[in-house]
Amino acid sequence: MEYFDKRAVSAAGIIAAACLIMGISGTAAAKGKVRNSPCEILIQTGGELAQAVSELEAEVAEDASDPYRDRPDIDTDDWMFILANPWNDIGDYTPELEYLEGQQFDARIIGPMEDMVEAARAEGLSVLLSSGYRSYATQTWLFNRKADEYGEPIAATIVARPGTSEHQTGLCCDITDHYYEMKDASLENTQMYQWMSRHCDEYGFIVRFPKGKEDITGIIYEPWHFRYVGKEAAAYIMEHDLTLEEFLELYQ
Ligand SMILES: [Zn+2]
Repeated sequence: MEYFDKRAVSAAGIIAAACLIMGISGTAAAKGKVRNSPCEILIQTGGELAQAVSELEAEVAEDASDPYRDRPDIDTDDWMFILANPWNDIGDYTPELEYLEGQQFDARIIGPMEDMVEAARAEGLSVLLSSGYRSYATQTWLFNRKADEYGEPIAATIVARPGTSEHQTGLCCDITDHYYEMKDASLENTQMYQWMSRHCDEYGFIVRFPKGKEDITGIIYEPWHFRYVGKEAAAYIMEHDLTLEEFLELYQ
């Protein structure tokens, strides 16, 4: 203990002596009309350092308060993040297509889709790929047919306007049960949906239009509609109960 005390005393002595010397030379420097004495420079540097430290601390505190600070390192310009919704018209975008079980998809998601379907069937589920890619032309036809019947504003609430349907991206699929093909909210009670919603992210898919997020997606709750975004993003989106819109917003 005594040893440390002695060290502390001598350290204090050295600092005091250093400051005294600096002070003297500082005074000398002042006489020589030099702007800052070494002690002033030391104080100034110390001040800057303290400011930098507090700025860093503020940054860390801000970062810690961001609940999404652990979001995956992805490039939102990647093909798998293309966004088609009532506010994002993708025009006549057409991916390279490939067939799977009677439906067309972006060729790049055929592998993950096959893997997911195979895994679900291994659990005894009777998976039905009910609707995949829909072209701009098909969507135009569907929309016009409704518009002729009800007028454009009402048609837009029933059928997506051409260029705003996610089915045009080729990255999604309506998945139902062979024995329960109804596309309504009660589909969530099927074993199919229970399994799909729990495991889809393992294959890179998300529940694209969740319950309670209708204002954000612009689409009603659709427990049959699954969308590919890649494994990393899917795991994050499902874990944090996000929509694709909310997820992409994290990177703005
Ligand atoms: Zn759909």
